Amino acid sequence: MFKKILIANRGEIACRVIKSAQKMGIKTVAIYSEADKHALHVAMADEAVLIGPPPANESYIVIDKVMDAIRQTGAEAVHPGYGFLSENKLFAEALAREGVAFIGPPVGAIESMGDKITSKKIAQEAGVATVPGHMGLIADAEEAVKISREIGYPVMLKASAGGGGKGMRIAWNDDEAREGFQSSKNEAASSFGDDRIFIEKFITQPRHIEIQVLADAHGNAIYLGERECSIQRRNQKVIEEAPSPFLDEKTRKKMGNQAVALAQAVDYTSAGTVEFIVDGDRNFYFLEMNTRLQVEHPVTELITGVDLVEQMIRVANGEELAIRQKDVKLNGWAVESRLYAEDPYRNFLPSIGRLSRYRPPEEVADATHVVRNDTGVYEGGEISMYYDPMIAKLCTWAPDRDAAIEEMRVALDTFEVEGIGHNLPFLSAVMDHEKFTSGNMTTAFIEEEFPDGFDGVDLPNDMLRRVAASAAAMYRVAEIRRTRVSGRMDNHERKVGTDWVVSLQGQEFPVVIDADPMGATVTFKDGKSHRVSSDWVPGQSLAKLDVDGTLVVIKVGKIPGGFRMRLRGADMKVFVRTPRQAELARLMPEKMPADTSKLLLCPMPGLIVSVAVEVGDEVQEGQTLCTVEAMKMENILRAEKKTVVTKVNAAAGDSLAVDDVIMEFE
Ligand code: ADP
Ligand code: ADP
Ligand code: MG
Repeated sequence: MFKKILIANRGEIACRVIKSAQKMGIKTVAIYSEADKHALHVAMADEAVLIGPPPANESYIVIDKVMDAIRQTGAEAVHPGYGFLSENKLFAEALAREGVAFIGPPVGAIESMGDKITSKKIAQEAGVATVPGHMGLIADAEEAVKISREIGYPVMLKASAGGGGKGMRIAWNDDEAREGFQSSKNEAASSFGDDRIFIEKFITQPRHIEIQVLADAHGNAIYLGERECSIQRRNQKVIEEAPSPFLDEKTRKKMGNQAVALAQAVDYTSAGTVEFIVDGDRNFYFLEMNTRLQVEHPVTELITGVDLVEQMIRVANGEELAIRQKDVKLNGWAVESRLYAEDPYRNFLPSIGRLSRYRPPEEVADATHVVRNDTGVYEGGEISMYYDPMIAKLCTWAPDRDAAIEEMRVALDTFEVEGIGHNLPFLSAVMDHEKFTSGNMTTAFIEEEFPDGFDGVDLPNDMLRRVAASAAAMYRVAEIRRTRVSGRMDNHERKVGTDWVVSLQGQEFPVVIDADPMGATVTFKDGKSHRVSSDWVPGQSLAKLDVDGTLVVIKVGKIPGGFRMRLRGADMKVFVRTPRQAELARLMPEKMPADTSKLLLCPMPGLIVSVAVEVGDEVQEGQTLCTVEAMKMENILRAEKKTVVTKVNAAAGDSLAVDDVIMEFE
């Protein structure tokens, strides 16, 4: 076995690979950029080599620098993770030249599967179902229209070199085909330096279901079931699960066999993923093959018990697979939530800054449930603008789907992240969404169910009552504390009343609390009562309560007269008042939020790429005002209404902080 391997990556995936290597007794080498001096993967590895400035194209993806680090440390093999150099054939070749093992597939497989047109042709020859369409290149917009008509709308225009959801457009008519051709081409040229475009049928009501394959260099290839990845935003996966709630045994087997046939057709070794798009009638079509470890591989590990990284290392070491197809058993259900540093309340714009709080739920693994969190960050660490905004992958496992989802709801509520914008509330919202819980989703789920973005969840009434009861019980505890602190020695408990009015989410609940040493019984006006018990003490940011036998986890902050409470995607102010205070509060005028509609504020720290308007310009609703770059993404800021620009404070090249005023309107 290798004595030392180098991990040519960063973040959670570098940490993930290091864990398996350590388990196998292999020494590890991390590489890092100047922005990652204090990163977790550097701390976890046995050795670490600084390889350059923060931008990936000056550090992590510079082959010569990685090769230097290998020579310097004597690493015998390299795991590339995903992204970066993982599907770069020049890198695999450079390693081969120096006799260093690549923990991944052979160069030929990377090359043929790296190109969508080539891979589609090979798949078709191997007997794999492919999306109907035109297998050749498209010369210009008019040809794009002609071919789109032949295929029949809707169609999808795709960059042959594409990846990461970039360089693809749907077209429903000639005009969109013309436009889509141009914009895919531009995006492909700037993202991949390769503007070749092809067209295929757009599969409607599609689900993304992919097959995990594993092959060795001795001719053995198996599949480890599927992953459903239909919950996507802009063609990027957000939530994945295994198995798929949509597949039956027959379809699973058919897909698995085709995936293995494709792997064998390109002499594949190592772990790989064959992605399929599946229509409402369970017809499936090959999309692409990812010749690397996939982001969402943990859900497969959780239902098969196979450590995919360990298998990759063993295969790279020339070992024969110890698992055969008949040994692969799918057990239970696993769900993964990708935690992104993206602010759901600001149209998912990337958010950067310091993690003032980062407390993932405790990892557990036993026969009835598993909580696993793959992460590369820590409390106090910095989320920088240079890399991918994914900061953790939270996975849960349970014997069945409903239980795995319930585990995920609680795990998300328990996960504390402060200091940056993040998508935790959005993930919670999906976990409670009927379309998701019923398993009846397509890749259009987010677009269709959140057409105007996300502005928090309104809790259903039963949950609202549980929260109201919790808040009343918690407030009482806080009040007892407060009166005790203020020095009244005599019988302070009795000074805290029993009648309260809890207001939250626009509703008022008058309640009566009957407390005892074990907890409190909170009775509502309709006569129904809820039993609340908890070991929460005032000042703690997380409250775990037992409400009528159900675990309710709430993120709590103190505000005057109540709490800020966050759970299940809701973020609300909860006031707990005496009946008299509640009466007075009803008379208070509602405070209006400050009017910022006359200002364009910078939604995240970033670089102004371009400003599209000048002072005096009349702009229409939706018109582009300027473009801000952060985390490798260009974000277009648009006018929210028809108005006139009165002042412009920023120009291309300026670095702005969050909420800096970019321009002002009439
Ligand atoms: P997965 O199917 O595992 O989610 P993705 O295709 O979304 O894989 O990509 C995984 C990671 O690799 C992401 O961080 C993505 O940004 C990055 N990535 C994928 N393809 C490319 C590419 N061609 N160029 C740059 N980054 C890429
Ligand atoms: P990438 O390399 O960027 O991951 P893929 O070809 O895997 O590109 O496509 C990414 C996503 O785009 C898929 O998961 C699916 O949601 C959608 N998609 C791709 N091709 C089609 C198609 N022909 N019809 C419908 N949806 C598609
Ligand atoms: Mg893909």
